[in-house]
Amino acid sequence: RGYRVQYSAALGPYKGGLRFASNVNLSIIKFLGFEQTFKDALTCLPIGGAKGGSDFSPIGRSDGEVMRFCQAFMTEFHRHIGQDIDCPAGDVGVGGREVGYLYGQYRRIVGAAEFGAMSGKDIKTGGSILRPEATGFGALYFVQHMLQLAGKKLEGAKIAISGFGNVAWGASKKATELGAKVIAISGPDGVVTIPNGMNEEMIDYMLELRASNRNIVAPFAEKFAGTTFTPGKKAWSVKCDIALPCAFQNELNGDDAAELLKNGTWCCAEVSNMGCTPEAIHAFQKAGILFAPGKAVNAGGVATSGLEMTQNCMHISWSGKEVDEKLHFIMASIHDACVKFGKQKDGHIDYVKGANIAGFMKVAQAMLEQGVL
Ligand code: GLU
Repeated sequence: RGYRVQYSAALGPYKGGLRFASNVNLSIIKFLGFEQTFKDALTCLPIGGAKGGSDFSPIGRSDGEVMRFCQAFMTEFHRHIGQDIDCPAGDVGVGGREVGYLYGQYRRIVGAAEFGAMSGKDIKTGGSILRPEATGFGALYFVQHMLQLAGKKLEGAKIAISGFGNVAWGASKKATELGAKVIAISGPDGVVTIPNGMNEEMIDYMLELRASNRNIVAPFAEKFAGTTFTPGKKAWSVKCDIALPCAFQNELNGDDAAELLKNGTWCCAEVSNMGCTPEAIHAFQKAGILFAPGKAVNAGGVATSGLEMTQNCMHISWSGKEVDEKLHFIMASIHDACVKFGKQKDGHIDYVKGANIAGFMKVAQAMLEQGVL
């Protein structure tokens, strides 16, 4: 069954990813679309909010099966999207391969290239350089700003990451580049601890692991000496300074938060959408550690999708340097907006409040300015 929830077009065409995972249902797509609306507003780009997907899971399927599903999905979906109407992209379970098949079917039906009808495309077919890395890179830029304001350093910090997909890969890559140590990654089967931190070879291997389409992280420990796989455990059982949930909603609960706090974690930034349960967020806030919500931290992905739409409209391609600079600028302004709206009387920054108010103000003002929308 397929879904698309077009939440708000007050700021621009509906925009948001498609998720293919067996647990997808209307309720999940609705909350993701709601969150997406405020996230997209935070980017300050002209994009509205939407989310979609299906309970079809590409895990364990052949390329042919995935292609046929994507084509069947788009045969119905094409009538609801378009470059000035709704521009879907990837999310969990929808990467470059799926976007390629979806976009190919869209072109086949409408008979036009219409690059802006989907983002997350391959670079050869109108995609933006750095889009695959953007969510993870943007998250680390946001964390850098948070830490800087709090007088803390990323260099040498130990980071635990959940997942090993596209977002976890980008986050690991940028964290390592900036001098932090990624000491754990996890999958549905358990956690791999990496005492000396990830190196370039390990980061590249994450892509292979994902492409193997088996959804297990254990082979990572078989490949790299000195790393250990613990079945059935989450990344949050590993002693770390910074926790970065990069997989699914509700993947870090109250018990996990208590364990992290007991182990001395001083920062948690949600890279997945709503990765922490309300209990976990309250525990972090009560303990006074740095915490920022997904709609701010992971906005770099959709922001770079917005940049892809702009390049498509202009029929040009920016260089990696240009895209990275723009991404950095966007993440810095999202951080500034969170600080502006989230600053408490005692000077402490409530990033949850800041992100919610900043996003809401933008959408609400646009609605009022355009009359009843
Ligand atoms: N799925 C990503 C998100 O949650 C990206 C959406 C997009 O690029 O449109 O923001």
